[in-house]
Amino acid sequence: MAQNGTTENGVADGIPALPFPQPVKVQEVRHTKIFIGNEWHTSSRGRTFPTFNPATCVKICDVEEADKEDVDKAVEAAKAAGQRGSLWRRMDASSRGRLLHTLADLMERDRLLLAVGSLPTLETLDTGKPFLQAFFIDLEGSIKTLRYYAGWADKIHGKSLPVDESFVCLTKHEPIGVCGAIIPWNFPLLMFMWKIAPALSCGNTVVIKPAEQTPLTALHVGSLINEGITSLGIPHTNMSGLPSQAGFPPGVVNIVPGFGLTAGAAIASHMDINKVAFTGSTEVGQLIKEAAAKSNLKRVTLELGGKNPCIVFADCDLQLAVEETQKGAFYNQGQCCTAASRVFVEKSIYEEFVRRSIENAKRIVTGDPLDPQTSHGPQIDRKQFDKIMDLIESGKKEGARLEYGGAAVGEKSLFIEPTIFSEVKDHMRIAKEEIFGPVQCIFSFESQQEVIERANSSKYGLVSAVFTTSMDRAMSVSAALETGTVWINCYNALHAQTPFGGYKMSGNGRELGKYALAEYSEVKAVTIKLSKTL
Ligand code: NAP
Ligand code: MG
Repeated sequence: MAQNGTTENGVADGIPALPFPQPVKVQEVRHTKIFIGNEWHTSSRGRTFPTFNPATCVKICDVEEADKEDVDKAVEAAKAAGQRGSLWRRMDASSRGRLLHTLADLMERDRLLLAVGSLPTLETLDTGKPFLQAFFIDLEGSIKTLRYYAGWADKIHGKSLPVDESFVCLTKHEPIGVCGAIIPWNFPLLMFMWKIAPALSCGNTVVIKPAEQTPLTALHVGSLINEGITSLGIPHTNMSGLPSQAGFPPGVVNIVPGFGLTAGAAIASHMDINKVAFTGSTEVGQLIKEAAAKSNLKRVTLELGGKNPCIVFADCDLQLAVEETQKGAFYNQGQCCTAASRVFVEKSIYEEFVRRSIENAKRIVTGDPLDPQTSHGPQIDRKQFDKIMDLIESGKKEGARLEYGGAAVGEKSLFIEPTIFSEVKDHMRIAKEEIFGPVQCIFSFESQQEVIERANSSKYGLVSAVFTTSMDRAMSVSAALETGTVWINCYNALHAQTPFGGYKMSGNGRELGKYALAEYSEVKAVTIKLSKTL
């Protein structure tokens, strides 16, 4: 998903005009180990796993594989870093914010300058996402998220409460402790920041597992966390004489690259992890919740799948609706929980909408993700590629009309053509299952009541969109839609300030915005009985 408050593709959509920034040649990936206590570790079981460039299917490097023992070590480091009396706990809250800003500064630097550590290039190599999208959207969103929560660090506080005057009641917002995070491969860096930034802002410590397909940018951030201590640290004392640390103390952030069934499961069931935040499939989300329930009842937030409806009314700005819904369907090769996967178009404009959507798709440039002109890259891996091709076949067999694309690009690559189906019916697999690929499904509808019922008839409830020039209609339809976000006349318009999360099986809890702070804090009520009242 994008997170820059603008749209994603092309010059007019938030990617500035020429000259484009250029990717750098990555000679060598420097950071491939497990990051615990601000040090690099090899795998306890002596194992590594490869990570591949999906554009070429060539191995980039091997990464040390964390398993249960490594997660245990990471949790121990995180627990020690966050215990009462530790530097992290004693640190002035504004210094915590300053650290998050320092990390954002280092990311800005590596976004623009450093050859070996260029974050957008690494992200493009590891995920296959087009370079300019990584540069302008993933990096921009990651940095903005860090800065947003940096600002909150010294503004998180409790209240004093009006009770019987012989008591003083107040609340304190305290850290939860060690927070686990398990993230997916579609937005590796952005999801990393969505998890660590609010957790650290609230004073917690973190153990985070990147997806097995995309560990590299997370590990690069580990090196920045270390660097924040050594090169940018300006130690000074605050008014109480305590050190106001300018670097992240060891153990505050720990990164455990590895597999879901081992490292991920160890996080979900760990007795010393008090909260776990997960983004990924609904099936694994259910496993995480079960593991949390069976271990220590740790708190769980889940950001899961979506089968997101867009409703296009006849009174809309048609070209805007065509462009936004298609961008929503194909952005990041369709590998978005927010993908615009069900586009309902009012019957009177349906044929014109389909015609313009096909014309619009012809402008997409498929190719080398490192080429700044490219807007469409490969899928992440063979498993996802096969799943998408199977769903495309099912769409053809079940009678949807293939209007555009529908085939793999090249012989053995992971590229799939942007694909448009029209005449999609609600019972078809492509109408019900999360495709997670570049497949736009267009349906027609006749009445507002009908389309609301159809839009809501999904087990998911993540996002939706409404295209109309009537604000009255936009407000009444948005009130009826069962989704955590409703976009009106736009798509994928995410901001660090705005909460994000799903209804129904799209998840529990909210990320981003002030809402996420509650997910990362314990509230303590302190009640004082006065010996006498005046
Ligand atoms: P996934 O299995 O849900 O992976 C997400 C994360 O969970 C990864 O870090 C994964 O580790 C980890 N994980 C897997 N099994 C686990 C377990 N038993 N306990 C703890 N952690 C576990 O997703 P996927 O297999 O990559 O993709 C499958 C489908 O999920 C996609 O087709 C798409 O529909 C959906 N998906 C949704 C999102 C989203 O943004 N909501 C993102 C990715 C995928 P590994 O690295 O070992 O996989
Ligand atoms: Mg990779």
